[in-house]
Amino acid sequence: MNNFDFQNPTKIIFGKDEIAKISNEIPEGAKVLVLFGGGSIKKNGVYEQVSNALSNFEVIEFGGIPANPEYEVLLEALDIIKAENITFLLAVGGGSVIDGTKFLAAAANYKGDNPWDILANNIRTEEGKGMPFGTVLTLPATGSEMNSGAVVSRAETKEKRVLGGPGLFPKFSILDPQVVKSIPKRQIANGLADAFTHVLEQYMTYSVDAKLQDRFAEGIIQTLVEIAPTMLKDEFDYKASANFMWSCTMALNGLIQKGVPSDWAIHMIGHELTALYGIDHARTLAIITESHYTVNFDDKKEKLAQYAERVWNVSEGTLDEKAKAGIEKTTAFYQSLGIDTKLSDYTENFEGTAKEIAKRFTERGWKGIGEKGKVTPEMVEKIVEMSY
Ligand code: NAP
Ligand code: FE
Repeated sequence: MNNFDFQNPTKIIFGKDEIAKISNEIPEGAKVLVLFGGGSIKKNGVYEQVSNALSNFEVIEFGGIPANPEYEVLLEALDIIKAENITFLLAVGGGSVIDGTKFLAAAANYKGDNPWDILANNIRTEEGKGMPFGTVLTLPATGSEMNSGAVVSRAETKEKRVLGGPGLFPKFSILDPQVVKSIPKRQIANGLADAFTHVLEQYMTYSVDAKLQDRFAEGIIQTLVEIAPTMLKDEFDYKASANFMWSCTMALNGLIQKGVPSDWAIHMIGHELTALYGIDHARTLAIITESHYTVNFDDKKEKLAQYAERVWNVSEGTLDEKAKAGIEKTTAFYQSLGIDTKLSDYTENFEGTAKEIAKRFTERGWKGIGEKGKVTPEMVEKIVEMSY
């Protein structure tokens, strides 16, 4: 096992009817900016619960943060934060609203001239430097409610870039599984696939004999696989939703990543597909996973075989055969969620995508990604081409 530090300061308040508790968590006298997306919270009762809970605070609202939070829109919110002397941010939404809020938490106290530099130069927000914020999670998927990373898009330049740092953990997050009831099935499928891939990115590497981390990772994946059919049914199931929500949070709150190598190449390549074609984040991951594991088979086959055995009960065959079965089971899982796994399923203009992404990586100086830093832009090109 590798050496590690672990600190996660986010307070989780989990369960039925817990949204009212936000009032205990926000500092007295705070001036709060409530941030939300396209309006789902006004239809499912979440907005009302948040408003009631904030009745003792001075509150301003900013709605309209789009999926894949858009830089230009966030700049409008940044102007409000400055003009109104906001002291606390409250994100009410899924990963997009939470990530957008994290960017604002970083940008509100940023001393440089151009907030885009935070993303372009990946400037970290150190502890105590971001504006404090909390979240009310409405869509289990990203884990953003309990981590310090975020992804922001810029339509103008077709870019999607990351930011982060220890100053960007939420102070608290409210996880009430009842919010799952109004989520469209397409987004439920996305949430299952995103969380599933988050675990893979931190697990499908090489072994450092971190037995507990492996079992944690396999346990989260097995839970997602077990509940997926129930989550995709029409009737709302609280018990499955609670397991879904907590699995998504645990998939990316830093715990399973400690002491082990992590990959993240699927996300890095996937982000480019969202930036270029607007494909849902989770679906871009489903497009890239199989070809990434195929191109990097030799580096990953031991773990792929372990995963095939432990998660998918593959007991027959050589190590290579089991590893291949692990890849096939993964693709089949995405497809069982109704998620297509080829780029050509999403766009007719796929020709040239591989070259464009490899070019972007080269320009950014991303010479080698993945757990060993071995995935060169040339290999990225091959991976994307194989995903057509
Ligand atoms: P999302 O983009 O936040 O939301 C997707 C859609 O679901 C929106 O249209 C939203 O509608 C709707 N929605 C949310 N909650 C709902 C509810 N309870 N009922 C009905 N509709 C609801 O989806 P996401 O998958 O959570 O976030 C994706 C973003 O997170 C991507 O930009 C991705 O790159 C990023 N991401 C971040 C991390 C991280 O660690 N920070 C990790 C992975 C991915 P409204 O807008 O109307 O609310
Ligand atoms: Fe993700």
